[in-house]
Amino acid sequence: MNAQAALRSSPLQVAPVAGMLMRRALAARPQSVRFVTVRAITSGSIAAAEAKQTRLFLRGAGFRAGSLATLRWKPPSLAVRRQYSLSPVAVISPSSAKTGADPELAKELGFERVEEQFVDEYKSTATLYRHKKTGAEIMSVVNDDENKVFGIVFRTPPKDSTGIPHILEHSVLCGSRKYPLKEPFVELLKGSLQTFLNAFTYPDRTCYPVASTNLQDFYNLVDVYLDAVFYPRCVNDVTTFQQEGWHYELNDPSEDITYKGVVFNEMKGVYSQPDNVLGRVSQQASFPDNTYGVDSGGDPTVIPDLTFEQFKEFHAKFYHPTNARVWFYGDDDPNQRLRIISAYLDEFEANAASKESEVKVQKLFNEPKRVVETYAVGDGAANARKHMVAINWVLSDTVLDPETELALGFLDHLMLGTPGSPLRKALMESGLGESMIGGGMEDELRQPQFSIGLKGVAEEDISKVEELVFSTLKQLAEDGFSPEAVEASMNTIEFSLRENNTGSFPRGLSLMLRSMGKWLYGLDPFEPLRFAKPLEHFKERLKTEGVKGVFAPLIRNFILDNPHRVTVELHPDVEKGKMEEAKEAERLASVKSSMTKEDLAELARATEELRLKQETPDSPEALKAVPSLALSDIPKKSTNIPIEVGNMKGSTILRHDLFTNDVLYTEVAFDMRTVRADLLPLVPLFCQSLLEMGTADLDFVQLSQLIGRKTGGISVYPSTSAVRGRAEPSSHIIVKGKAMASQTSDLFQLMRKVLQDVKFTDQGRFKQFVLQSKSRMEGRISGGGHSVAAARLDAKLNSAGWVSEQMGGLSYLEYLRDLEKRVDEDWPSVAESLNEIRNELLSRKGAIVNLTADERTLTSAESHVSNFLDAMPETAGSLTKWDRRLPLVNEGLVIPTQVNYVGKAGNIYDAGYELDGSAYVISKVIGTTWLWDRVRVSGGAYGGFCDFDSHSGVFTYLSYRDPNLIKTLDNYDGTVQFLRELEMDNDALTKAIIGTIGDVDSYQLPDAKGYSSMMRYIMGISDEERQRRRDEILSTSVKDFHAFADALESVKDKGVIVAVASADDIDAANKERSGLLEVRKVL
Ligand SMILES: [Zn+2]
Repeated sequence: MNAQAALRSSPLQVAPVAGMLMRRALAARPQSVRFVTVRAITSGSIAAAEAKQTRLFLRGAGFRAGSLATLRWKPPSLAVRRQYSLSPVAVISPSSAKTGADPELAKELGFERVEEQFVDEYKSTATLYRHKKTGAEIMSVVNDDENKVFGIVFRTPPKDSTGIPHILEHSVLCGSRKYPLKEPFVELLKGSLQTFLNAFTYPDRTCYPVASTNLQDFYNLVDVYLDAVFYPRCVNDVTTFQQEGWHYELNDPSEDITYKGVVFNEMKGVYSQPDNVLGRVSQQASFPDNTYGVDSGGDPTVIPDLTFEQFKEFHAKFYHPTNARVWFYGDDDPNQRLRIISAYLDEFEANAASKESEVKVQKLFNEPKRVVETYAVGDGAANARKHMVAINWVLSDTVLDPETELALGFLDHLMLGTPGSPLRKALMESGLGESMIGGGMEDELRQPQFSIGLKGVAEEDISKVEELVFSTLKQLAEDGFSPEAVEASMNTIEFSLRENNTGSFPRGLSLMLRSMGKWLYGLDPFEPLRFAKPLEHFKERLKTEGVKGVFAPLIRNFILDNPHRVTVELHPDVEKGKMEEAKEAERLASVKSSMTKEDLAELARATEELRLKQETPDSPEALKAVPSLALSDIPKKSTNIPIEVGNMKGSTILRHDLFTNDVLYTEVAFDMRTVRADLLPLVPLFCQSLLEMGTADLDFVQLSQLIGRKTGGISVYPSTSAVRGRAEPSSHIIVKGKAMASQTSDLFQLMRKVLQDVKFTDQGRFKQFVLQSKSRMEGRISGGGHSVAAARLDAKLNSAGWVSEQMGGLSYLEYLRDLEKRVDEDWPSVAESLNEIRNELLSRKGAIVNLTADERTLTSAESHVSNFLDAMPETAGSLTKWDRRLPLVNEGLVIPTQVNYVGKAGNIYDAGYELDGSAYVISKVIGTTWLWDRVRVSGGAYGGFCDFDSHSGVFTYLSYRDPNLIKTLDNYDGTVQFLRELEMDNDALTKAIIGTIGDVDSYQLPDAKGYSSMMRYIMGISDEERQRRRDEILSTSVKDFHAFADALESVKDKGVIVAVASADDIDAANKERSGLLEVRKVL
């Protein structure tokens, strides 16, 4: 959620997401699950490489949901902070085959078995059924994975940009027949052990997935979701539509009418992000004749055209079994799956939806098109290099065979997958723009696309960017790719397929989204699950036809000679933001003037009624409807991760004996406190340089190819956290790598090379890193202002926060703006600083080497670790003191935006609070009740949440895409009163406790476990302490809530505020509360 949290997270875990964001900030999505924050800090080729390959071969799936789809909810990344202090419970073991459901039972329940396959790639038995009465299709995947997944998907192609599918996606989870309360979804968030709970709207489908490792919990989740999609209350009750979609708000007839609605504001936020504008314009211009020509997420200027009648009709037609695809995955009983789903399906008759929801094919153009659009920027930015240009192709209007798809995916990785890939390299080194846009190949929708371009371009350079793309593609079609590049791509892709590491995203969900990419269009749902044969065949073809023979025709036929091309130019426009606001105000004024006095009184009354309804809690009876586990279902003991602590040559060696399917995961952590404070903002670029600048004997392309050929990837990044009870933060630069056990020697040799042999001599490349980072930081501020606010608040309140903000907050952006000049004017001093960081940092004394694998692999790694340490200098610089903070003043950071990000924080340890496990439960309750109801539901923001950092004691309130500012601050302050007056029955308390344990026991794959264990070691968090916190969580009482109010009183009275907001809203706030915020123009 903030830079600090991001710094603490594991890049390998989140890299695919981060990479995705980097490459494709597209369409309507709340950015995103997924931690916008990380991308600014993760460096190295691995993120890009993994993301690429994930996108192609895993069809990006889970990760992509973030890029193409909107989500119901943006989960704040609280878990990131907590994972070190608490324990994971899941265990992954080698899979073995299991069988599908009993054929007799399936028949009895009304299912026809269409096909069954054993999918060797995932050791799974997959059976496709058709429900005879309604035509619903069910895929039942059986294996040993305890992280069970269920999903139901409807085809929901919209005809206009009113955002119908998106608003419906939000609304169906607001109460249903069996669960008649305001938001069963939130009750599940509060009180379930779910490992995944969300909903996505794509341009042509809506997905409702859940996951859990606990069987009873899983069944509860499935039932709530099925009841929600088929029998939602929102189709009978207009107030949900008003709340989630849009409505007029009028508090007093003398005031102006405004628009409110969760989706309305969510989409205003999306439309405030230039990258999203580009993605949307590109998609719509590429598909003028089918459903992709409109925005399923909703255009804020069109959303108010949507009527409740249209909304109801859309649900009746498309949320129907005939139009449904259902997915089950995991180690649960396949017979029970069919019983559960048939009970719902049997209540329906077939309808005509499946015909109507078919996604029409866009016929390919006969000639290319060009579109010029504008986007809103703050004044002062108009003359800068702020143009964007992207070239988009739709590759085909017929279905491609699996092998061609595979080859296109490979081609994409070869051209763009790593910083050394030729098309990426050409664009980045051209100096024509700041960073790449367009995501390369995109194959999740009906027709595959390819898209590439640059942002941060000067107007006169737009045509040069286009020429460069074409000349590079032509050259690649003529010269092909080097054997080293092909080998590196092949190894990277095979490694990742074998590892199947989806991070914190459930594997079963990743497979579902992948399968859906075919299934949804009436194609073979099994095909995307099988890669072994096409891959073998593809390798054969490479041998017989040669690299050029395979790829040159692809480049020519699908790209160069393909007339279905849309070039999109996006120009900055200082007036646009104001004009849009004026238009909205005008529209609202004319609405008001058309109303009689009585109408206005009625509207004010309706506004008040809606607000009252939103703020009235559900009755205890209604709340009881949502099934929940009992405390007795929760393990009392926390699960410990195996750790063995040893020493070698002055370094600490941590070993975690876990089954990793023959992969060795390692991290080497060097104490960063040896680095001088004024050099800290240079650290992220230092890390990037290690991987992307090259050594004396290898240029960076060769170096990254070598890493690709010999390992599963290497990354380097800083990680900083506060440590409870200590003024000094814990701060490290971590080198992270993974490889097959047989490649251990190569892995450590390459890690050594990266650390020691890289030469900081390439001024041109370094300049490009600076521009790229600057552009990413700017994107982050406009798309994820809450994380920038949080980092800023943290930096005012503790030194770990200060360090992190220097490397990923507004201070970092300001440093980069200066550095851009310094690189031109005084490169030698910059290069010297980079060398200085390395000299101060590298030492085997005090370093930590973390190893995660099975015992045999761990033992065989020892000699390689020893050689690695031998090569490191014995001692490094001495530790410096960084006890600094940003001034404790309230700030209003001005950006061009239609929605705000409002933060307020204080350090509750300073106010005398002593850590107790109940704080986790209380924070969760505040976030999912008080803040959810006030900031999101009645305030109309897309998100409102809080974060308690138990390491530093900083308690932070944050809002996301928020139409308010002062009102949100008042709601934060209201938390104290809310806690003081809180009454909670046993059921509600139990739910909150279970939900908190669910967060604590978050599902982790083995590499993440080894990583968490290392972080706990570094921060001095023992298993005993974790058990104590767990005991405290389990014994939380209502008294703890009342006591916590005292701690939050200090945040209310002495807390500091940072708002990232529009100039108008900050002005208004300063008028209302004189001089509240110190104004600072940021973008
Ligand atoms: Zn949404």
